Amino acid sequence: MTFQTVPTYQGVLARYAQYLDIPAHTRPVTLQEGNTPLIPMPGLAAELGGGFELFVKYEGLNPTGSFKDRGMTVAISEAYGRGAKAVICASTGNTAASAAAYASRAGLRAVVIIPQGKVAAGKLAGAVAYGAEVIQIEGSFDDALALVVQISQQQPIALVNSLNPYRLEGQKTAAFEICEALGAAPDWLCLPVGNAGNITSYWMGFRQYHDLYRLGLPRILGVQAAGSAPLVLGRPVEHPETVATAIRIGRPARGEQALEAAEQSGGRILAVSDEEILAMQRRLAAGGVWVEPASAAGLAGLAHELLAGRLSLDELRGRRIVAVCTGHGMKDPDIIAASMPAPLRLEPDVRALEQAILRGR
Ligand SMILES: *Cc1c(COP(=O)(O)O)cnc(C)c1O
Repeated sequence: MTFQTVPTYQGVLARYAQYLDIPAHTRPVTLQEGNTPLIPMPGLAAELGGGFELFVKYEGLNPTGSFKDRGMTVAISEAYGRGAKAVICASTGNTAASAAAYASRAGLRAVVIIPQGKVAAGKLAGAVAYGAEVIQIEGSFDDALALVVQISQQQPIALVNSLNPYRLEGQKTAAFEICEALGAAPDWLCLPVGNAGNITSYWMGFRQYHDLYRLGLPRILGVQAAGSAPLVLGRPVEHPETVATAIRIGRPARGEQALEAAEQSGGRILAVSDEEILAMQRRLAAGGVWVEPASAAGLAGLAHELLAGRLSLDELRGRRIVAVCTGHGMKDPDIIAASMPAPLRLEPDVRALEQAILRGR
């Protein structure tokens, strides 16, 4: 046997340069994001009724723990290449951590604006660790986004929320990876919807590959949390609430495009309860995939539609379904402490331990 080196993977900009609509001044800033696993979930598929193939696109395995890195490498590379000295974003947490990491790497200032309360511990810690200037405002994510849009128009500071088109260029690469792994587009794609940049990106990516390679198009199931479901209600939500803090957004910046993606694809956008989200988080973890609550929403939506009879097992027979799990479970450790039993406490005594094990708790 001969030893072979593998060419180093260089991140989504290098991998997909020819497919991305980006200016020539772009100077790559990468942490080798992307190239995430597409994990088969046969146990969960069987639990949901079986007869179809189910995969999780595990985006929590990106460098800062969420899919935001795919878009951020492109947004920061563009800003850096054009000579920007600072970037700004509003964030429920993951965008902040991602912007902070890529900005630091490029030597740029990162200012991140987070809403009052409910930013998961692992996200805030990330933003701070990577050296961002974190400002919490007494308002919602939507208030924060309105502020950063205004400031970026008045000051030489680059906006890196998904209103920035380069974020979408980067994020669409996840659709390319799925097509390459399956040899075709899946039949269904389920994913959470917050500010709606990601659903827009996936639809762009699948359409682009279909135009080039005739790989088919998925139907898209976009899923919001019931307490933050402006796209289902058809109007903004003033005080969005949900345990899935990454999608706690009442006024999605790309709402129109999300509705279009769902409709054009022959899919839909629906809402699920926090209980359904947390139940799906536990079911995914039982299959070895621990995700943050928002990331379980896509699959919770699939389960919801099956239960409600709006999707039938007949219709899904032989089909391939991909659920996008957007962020890692370690981002939000507190929700586990709040929703799962605490560890058993024992004296350091072998008899006590033996009894506990035999009892199986
Ligand atoms: C940002 C985020 C979402 C929502 O994505 P949008 O592009 O805002 O719709 C979902 N899950 C996680 C973990 C996120 O970080």
